[in-house]
Amino acid sequence: MGVILSEDFLKVKRVPERAVSDRDQLFQILDAGKIIHIGFVDDNHPVVIPLAYVRDGERILLHGSTGSRLFRTLAAGAQLCATVTLLDGIVAARSAFNSSMNYRSVLIFGKATLLSDEYKDEALEKFTNNLIPERWQEVRKMTNKEKAATMVLSVPLETISGKVRVGGPADEEDSDLELPIWAGHIPIISVYGEPIAAENLSDDIDVPQSIKNMK
Ligand SMILES: Cc1cc2nc3c(=O)[nH]c(=O)nc-3n(C[C@H](O)[C@H](O)[C@H](O)COP(=O)(O)OP(=O)(O)OC[C@H]3O[C@@H](n4cnc5c(N)ncnc54)[C@H](O)[C@@H]3O)c2cc1C
Repeated sequence: MGVILSEDFLKVKRVPERAVSDRDQLFQILDAGKIIHIGFVDDNHPVVIPLAYVRDGERILLHGSTGSRLFRTLAAGAQLCATVTLLDGIVAARSAFNSSMNYRSVLIFGKATLLSDEYKDEALEKFTNNLIPERWQEVRKMTNKEKAATMVLSVPLETISGKVRVGGPADEEDSDLELPIWAGHIPIISVYGEPIAAENLSDDIDVPQSIKNMK
């Protein structure tokens, strides 16, 4: 279920040239992220909760405990606004005012719907492989008890907006370009470290291919 919001509500007004409306580009941002922040109102209080998510075509999936306040509230039909933010770099301008960050971000407005039990295995496979590609085939599958304790919610990607900043600083051309101050940008690159085996792991179990592939 999307929501009906006016074009003006969704229009990026501050630095509009950074707005992204191309759905493929919006989906690429969602596919590159791992964490989503879900904002909703509970008992008249705004709450924002970080969660894992995975994009599944024209929707995102969320999974959590059936006892969770967040999941119960969303399943009951609460409006939500969710954000995914990727931090790509720090922008060092010649002035404090123009110093900035490079980023890709997406906002999603709408309501969640509950996915039926029969879809849980498929959804959990998507979550597992989104964290570690090809991991699903290596792990123990869910028991019926675990499935019963898990809620999977779907949020449609109908009402979404995006904003991206790339590149170096936008210094004041009239006054700042001649200043003897270093300016530029510093990319942020996330990398996986060496895997560390669990303390209780038996010595005869090798690192599986899925983990070796995480580079
Ligand atoms: C990177 C990341 C990924 C996560 N992925 C998932 C997921 O896929 N599924 C899932 O169910 N949960 C996930 N969590 C945990 C999630 O943030 C919530 O803690 C959980 O969903 C319980 O939500 P709730 O509304 O039921 O919390 P409640 O326990 O009912 O919240 C009560 C209060 O606890 C505090 N609180 C709750 N969560 C947090 C938090 N994360 N940080 C600080 N304070 C908090 C707040 O003050 C909140 O008002 C993830 C957390 C992180 C940081």
